Amino acid sequence: MEVYKGKRIHGKIGMGPVLVLDRAVVYNTYKTVIKDRVAELERLKKAYERTDRELKDIIVSGRGKVGRNEADIFEAHRMLLTDENFVGEIKDMIVGESVCAEYAVSEVSAKYEDFFMNSPNIDMQSRAADIKDVSARIIANLMGKRERLVIREPSIILAEELSPSEVISLDLKKARGLVVTKGSLNSHATILARSMDIPMVLIEDSRIFESPKGVRAVVDGIEGTFIVDPDLPTYERYVNKLKEQNKAQEDLSLYKDKEAVTKSGRKISLFTNISDALGAEDSAYYHADGIGLFRTEFLYVGAKEPPSEEAQYKEYSNVLKKMGDKPVIIRTFDLGSDKTADFLHLSKEENPALGLRGIRLSLVYRELFKTQLKALFRAARHGNLKIMYPMITSVSEMIKVKEIVEECGAELKKDKFKFVIPAQGIMIETPGAVMIADELAEYADFFSIGTNDLTQYALAMDRQNGSLMEFTDPYHPAIMRLIEMTVKSAKAKGKTVGICGEMATVPFYLNKFIDLDIDYMSVNPANLLQIRKNASELD
Ligand code: PEP
Ligand code: MG
Repeated sequence: MEVYKGKRIHGKIGMGPVLVLDRAVVYNTYKTVIKDRVAELERLKKAYERTDRELKDIIVSGRGKVGRNEADIFEAHRMLLTDENFVGEIKDMIVGESVCAEYAVSEVSAKYEDFFMNSPNIDMQSRAADIKDVSARIIANLMGKRERLVIREPSIILAEELSPSEVISLDLKKARGLVVTKGSLNSHATILARSMDIPMVLIEDSRIFESPKGVRAVVDGIEGTFIVDPDLPTYERYVNKLKEQNKAQEDLSLYKDKEAVTKSGRKISLFTNISDALGAEDSAYYHADGIGLFRTEFLYVGAKEPPSEEAQYKEYSNVLKKMGDKPVIIRTFDLGSDKTADFLHLSKEENPALGLRGIRLSLVYRELFKTQLKALFRAARHGNLKIMYPMITSVSEMIKVKEIVEECGAELKKDKFKFVIPAQGIMIETPGAVMIADELAEYADFFSIGTNDLTQYALAMDRQNGSLMEFTDPYHPAIMRLIEMTVKSAKAKGKTVGICGEMATVPFYLNKFIDLDIDYMSVNPANLLQIRKNASELD
């Protein structure tokens, strides 16, 4: 038995066989001088062959990313493996400079990516992502690391780090637990995994990857431990804990049709945070009072091309119809930082959390933003839609947004579409926005406080950085004061204010938020029943 101590990410217990998630990421490729150039070329040839087999498999099984015809994408990848220029330059570098194949592939790939990315032609630009993908795959095969993106059995998944796009592309429904060696409590990848209610821990010890495949293991998200090959008493203890957990889950089902009400009868409007139409189904199933945050950026993350106006119109209409006349707050795409869209080919930033993200990115990529707004305005006819804008920090941004809204309305009218311009709110996610909340309230129909980002920016602690977890004080008084200030500014102008960060899941805060008379709280659908129970235990 091996017990690893780490940090709790999602407080549930899970048991199952271990599965290490290897995938084609860009591995560190050090410049190593080689002696036997012929052997190196042979190694490269084998890696090409393995890569080609993998790609053929993907084409046959039809799995891959959304967007362009999947088979076309992977056929294009296969063609690169025989492209005379690409393959020739790699070979020349190995022979001419006596460097290892991994290094040659990564250098030549970077050169080609650069070339295509700087092309004015959109199709040519998209080739850069293809080259990056296929090169990562070749390098993974050179290093003996295989890509595995499908989880076939219910398992405990071990991964170095998960990106938001991986979480949405993996079939995590089969995951009984997640163990990562890098990650943090409030990164988007973690929030997505938590919304699927998967027990999760952070273990900063790469020895976990030595765990034999298929060995029985336990993820204890309450204690923050990962136990490999538990001895019999430990195993039995966890079987019992699991039974208790299942029983508690069953008991929670009592709250499925109930409202969130405290003992003294104070009613809480409990909304949900979702990232796709499935989330809306869960929200309707659990009788949520509304949707408080639809993170639409996940329609873009991992896609080869931006979703069309028509596709978005259908998606939003679908979500609205599922919720009937209950409010649905759809946030315009909050791309940038950890949520990147490959098709934008954004350049790497020194401090991405402080970079081109949220509304700033929407204002730069104006056409992309307009396409989304038009889809939203058209969908607004099918339900009780409200729109909100992420990462607003100044009045001037809102003035620009309102101009674009007008422009979209005029264009839809000209094109004879039926549409409605719904209520528009602002996310309060930075201390700067809090300080001018009274002015921002003039430009917003409502506020939604994003406590995940508000905490990161107020305390200057990167929400992606797991090693800061011990410093991040979830009860830091600054956060509560910022929330109080926001509520005061909103109420003074007669505007509603909600909370859509993860904080409402903590009973201590839930109580505070009720005292502050916050209009609604929005949480993961997976947490909804627990919060109704928590509320019923408050005075
Ligand atoms: C937040 O910042 O609290 C929020 C709800 O938005 P996101 O987690 O998507 O950044
Ligand atoms: Mg945010």
